[in-house]
Amino acid sequence: MAKNDIITSALKQHFGFDTFKGQQRAIIESLVSGHDTFVLMPTGGGKSLCYQLPSLMMEGTAIVISPLIALMKNQVDAMRNFSDTDHVAHFLNSSLSRADIEAVKSDVEKGITKLLYVAPESLTKEENIEFLRKVKISFYAIDEAHCISEWGHDFRPEYRNIRPIINQIDKPGDRRPVIALTATATPKVQHDIQKNLAMTEANVFKSSFNRPNLYYEVRPKTKDVDKELVRFIKQNEGKSGIVYCLSRKKVEELAEMLVVNDIKALPYHAGMDAATRSANQDAFILENVDVIVATIAFGMGIDKPDVRFVIHYDIPKSLDGYYQETGRAGRDGGEGQCITFYSYKDIQKLEKFMQGRPIAEQEIGRQLLLETSAYAESSVCRRKTLMHYFGEDYEPDNCGNCDNCLNPKKQVDAKDELCAVIETITALKEKFKAEYIVKVLIGKDNNEIKSYGHDALEQFGAYDPADERRLVAVIRQAVIAGYLDKDIENYGLLKVTKKGADFLKKPTTFKIVEDADFDEDEDVAVMKGGASGAVDPELYSILKDLRKKIAKLHELPPYVIFQDPSLEAMATTYPISLEELQNIPGVGSGKAKRYGEEFVKVIKRHVEENEIERPEDIRVRSVANKSKVKIAIIQAIDRKVPLDELAESKGLEFDELLDEIEAIVYSGTKININYFLDEVLDEERQEEIFDYFKESESDDIEKAIEALDNEYSEEEIRLVRIRFLSEMAN
Ligand code: ADP
Ligand code: MG
Repeated sequence: MAKNDIITSALKQHFGFDTFKGQQRAIIESLVSGHDTFVLMPTGGGKSLCYQLPSLMMEGTAIVISPLIALMKNQVDAMRNFSDTDHVAHFLNSSLSRADIEAVKSDVEKGITKLLYVAPESLTKEENIEFLRKVKISFYAIDEAHCISEWGHDFRPEYRNIRPIINQIDKPGDRRPVIALTATATPKVQHDIQKNLAMTEANVFKSSFNRPNLYYEVRPKTKDVDKELVRFIKQNEGKSGIVYCLSRKKVEELAEMLVVNDIKALPYHAGMDAATRSANQDAFILENVDVIVATIAFGMGIDKPDVRFVIHYDIPKSLDGYYQETGRAGRDGGEGQCITFYSYKDIQKLEKFMQGRPIAEQEIGRQLLLETSAYAESSVCRRKTLMHYFGEDYEPDNCGNCDNCLNPKKQVDAKDELCAVIETITALKEKFKAEYIVKVLIGKDNNEIKSYGHDALEQFGAYDPADERRLVAVIRQAVIAGYLDKDIENYGLLKVTKKGADFLKKPTTFKIVEDADFDEDEDVAVMKGGASGAVDPELYSILKDLRKKIAKLHELPPYVIFQDPSLEAMATTYPISLEELQNIPGVGSGKAKRYGEEFVKVIKRHVEENEIERPEDIRVRSVANKSKVKIAIIQAIDRKVPLDELAESKGLEFDELLDEIEAIVYSGTKININYFLDEVLDEERQEEIFDYFKESESDDIEKAIEALDNEYSEEEIRLVRIRFLSEMAN
């Protein structure tokens, strides 16, 4: 019988399938004839069979290294199902008792076990290595091989020892082949795996990662996200779906919320006891519930072909993760809706979680996050972006099955911008990342740029800070279009490709779609009621723009510069000198000095251009105008009087005292309450609140309480806000 036929009949005999899926046959032939083999195949592609079938056909026992104990058990059960004996497959991991281990070893020694699943931790154990040296081995399979790479979404340090251990186990002169399999296919990960396993000469089988039946959509994550989630699930009633979020707490909350809304849902995360977890998984597979709310722990290795939607309630940490998880939808080739709720704030949260990790790891993590946010904010075909990420060319401009293709955004020509970007990258000798290139182009006034002397470049400040988003989009899309290349070895430094260099010599059109704006609270010039009658609307909106620009420059939220009521007052009384500016409520001398100059300049110009008659009664206010109580408070704080005592001695409730102190700092007077704050709140907790205000668009207390997950009291947050305003704004 020809070899092909042997393989086909083995497939039929052992697994009952008539035909191979994709490249399975070629892969199996490669392994059976003793070649190192590398398989890149999307989730659901049928990777397991690529080593299961050869193990049955070859002499000896195949060693399968697989990262998850739960996954191993499933696979062993599945293999046993196909066989008439339980001896055919075993696993060796820390969940087994001594007696179990002895039984497994005995079966392996007898030669009746064809597949031995081993956890990487167990593989490092000296006694296991000793044992395996005596065993006849057919080949080694490394499943989920991306765990080798720090650039994969599930890095496992133990995976990096696999090759040295295999070398110890192999008998002299009989090097057994290795098959490595993964569904993560970024070129970087692929390279890492091959290098680490010393299999750079392997036969590589890479299937297309495109999943034409999956629909991709990214929605802004707003306050109404829960409502939207419920609505979506109700519209898809009776269909199976998975909702992913990042924290266990959120998993519990969401599952409960869905149940309250009459949706059959259950939670799943690694913190639950094993019995409940597997009961919930079974309930989903058996369709007793429609929806599983889970952390990413769920889904690896489970095989439910008719998952109709995968929702990311939180943005994943990497696009690899995203693709794995969305890949669990529509495995049967039918409908698979992949919806992601995205807010840039979630990216910032993830960045914060990384703090404290080794620097190199943080750098990688940040790079992966950057790719993820780029994807989410992009208006380019999602499929094209994903395929490019996995090193695959996807030719059509419109895939017809993602939000961006179904609702195409307007295109604009960005020829000049692309030229400027290419020139800047070249001038910077291809040694900088995208963010830096953009900062140079918009003339950002920061120390790094100055210290390199890059503020002297011709391109420095060629664009307005308002063009930042557009330039970011130009770079992202130029990378996808192949004009630029990101050096992944070096944390994403930008290079100009030959295509890019040619473009600069002879620029043609370069059409881009502008990225969607996912900033939550757009700073539109809406005025509050009340005192606004006399406000000059044109000036007010000019001042708002100016505030936004200055805030961006200092990387601070706008309200830290001046609050809305202050701007309203400026647009009413037209102060044109720093002294006059200090009369505006909320503007003290500190703030006037720090930020005032530009504001009075703009107001003055506006007054002159429009020949405005200013009100006469602008008096210069001095400290003496501050109420007596305020002065007493400032003095007491200087003497470090505990604030609770201070409140009592002034006959104020504590929150009334905070009102007074807030009025003081909002008007620009610096005060230091750290002596008290340190007593009531440890440093780490202070930092968390402090960081929140640094990133937040608003100083609203309610919002802060919510964003900080109700972990802090209103008083605690107000105290830290006082420290923040005092340090950052005054
Ligand atoms: P992966 O590990 O690549 O995510 P699996 O190995 O779990 O995928 O296989 C996915 C599904 O495809 C399984 O249900 C498996 O039984 C099925 N499958 C694999 N090979 C074939 C084949 N040749 N014909 C039909 N079904 C197959
Ligand atoms: Mg698999």
